[in-house]
Amino acid sequence: MRVKAQMTMVMNLDKCIGCHTCSVTCKQVWTNREGVEYAWFNNVETRPGVGYPRGYEDQNKWKGGWNLTASGGLQLAAGGRLTKAAKIFGSPDTPEIADYYEPWTYEYDKLLSSPLGQLTPVARPTSLITGEDTKITWGAAWDDNLGGSASTMANDPILKSMSTHVRAEFESAFMFYLPRICEHCLNPACVASCPSGAMYKREEDGIVLVDQDRCRGWRLCVAGCPYKKIYFNHASGKAEKCTLCFPRIEAGQPTVCSETCTGRLRYLGLVFYDADRVSQAAAVKKTDLYQAQRDLFLDPNDPEVVAAARRDGIPQDWIDAAQKSPVWRLISEYEVALPLHPEFRTVPMVWYIPPLSPMVDVVAQSGSDGEDGKTLFAAISQMRIPLEYLAGLFTAGDTRPVEKSLRRLAAMRSGMREVALGNEMPAEIPAAVGMTDTQLVAMHRLLGIAKQAERYVIPPSHAESAQGRDYECPVPDGMMPGRATAGPVPVTVGRKPE
Ligand code: SF4
Ligand code: SF4
Repeated sequence: MRVKAQMTMVMNLDKCIGCHTCSVTCKQVWTNREGVEYAWFNNVETRPGVGYPRGYEDQNKWKGGWNLTASGGLQLAAGGRLTKAAKIFGSPDTPEIADYYEPWTYEYDKLLSSPLGQLTPVARPTSLITGEDTKITWGAAWDDNLGGSASTMANDPILKSMSTHVRAEFESAFMFYLPRICEHCLNPACVASCPSGAMYKREEDGIVLVDQDRCRGWRLCVAGCPYKKIYFNHASGKAEKCTLCFPRIEAGQPTVCSETCTGRLRYLGLVFYDADRVSQAAAVKKTDLYQAQRDLFLDPNDPEVVAAARRDGIPQDWIDAAQKSPVWRLISEYEVALPLHPEFRTVPMVWYIPPLSPMVDVVAQSGSDGEDGKTLFAAISQMRIPLEYLAGLFTAGDTRPVEKSLRRLAAMRSGMREVALGNEMPAEIPAAVGMTDTQLVAMHRLLGIAKQAERYVIPPSHAESAQGRDYECPVPDGMMPGRATAGPVPVTVGRKPE
């Protein structure tokens, strides 16, 4: 067992109102510069929908992430070293600007400085890339709130894999928002794809960064990332990505998207994982991926894990923080948070609590009590459309973990209603979902009313622990197409050393 710490995020989708505040504040801080006008390190998608860039989840088209080889190992879906080398000057698997959208501005000055005339002046859109007039045909949140989805929803890669009947029914059945940032994966395909060794995963907290000095703009990381969370800056010629606001994290502060989230739905904390088992967990069969990736996490309260963490150089205040981590509780103790597309095999580290509210709404609209435990439990099991869709997003198609998570959320809702009415929580409610009433109350506190200090447990960085240590990519030798050897990548805070 080799213990490592990872800064991890959980988002509670029940509370996302799709206001895009997180996207806008992130953009203001990180991508408000020439060359990244089209880049959204944080974006919020309406689901069902095609997402951003368009249809990014369709790996038959983009060949991002990892595939299982015939011998049970992992290989980049884009191919091995020779295949990648052959495509280095023009990868057909990289999204074009039209797949994101052509950024534009308006001729605002015309509104202010046009001479007096009969007609009201008009500010026409101009391309931020060419400076010419442009026609706006697509944007980062084009199908927001299902707008225009009658024509675009059919291109949702998850819906495509469901039946025609489901596709026809879906728009009236279910809708929710999915905020996305870089997943800061444990097995990052972007790092493995980079021919220049510019991409790296920080030793101390697992944040994935691009060394701007080393980046040569090959863009193989853009193709390699199945979540399409790396952006090419056409002005600087370098790749850029979400940094998990590392300067803030190092100071013990939450990311900008978390701090400004109006729904207070983001949680940040450390998880410990066994670095020796990452590639193994990424290489199990599809239906076992969720469980294998969850099993990677180590219980920070287990004395054996604590001793191993000390042995592996993790400072005591980080161990304390891991023991208080809200993320650990939501993923491993309550088992309500699930990974996004574990089938991409990058072992993502931003997990999601699936939305229950749309189901409650359907039950309430049918005239039944939407907060009643028994009614809700039955509805969750019967509503196959959202269950299958959520499983397509979070558990590689296995509906059981999704159902378990939703049932636990339903139990919390109906149990806490009894408490709010001044009654005892009926013993059968927590028992029906394999929890205790104390756990349900604690989960309600964390999901419903927790203050900032409980939602973000971020120990300040130890500069000394970041120096002179190596990150060893879990992918075996010979599978890293960009590097002559798959040896350790040296890491320091913020900038990769020579
Ligand atoms: S989600 Fe982030 S860490 Fe994972 S492969 Fe993409 S860019 Fe890399
Ligand atoms: S700020 Fe929060 S509530 Fe608003 S879209 Fe972003 S994640 Fe959702």
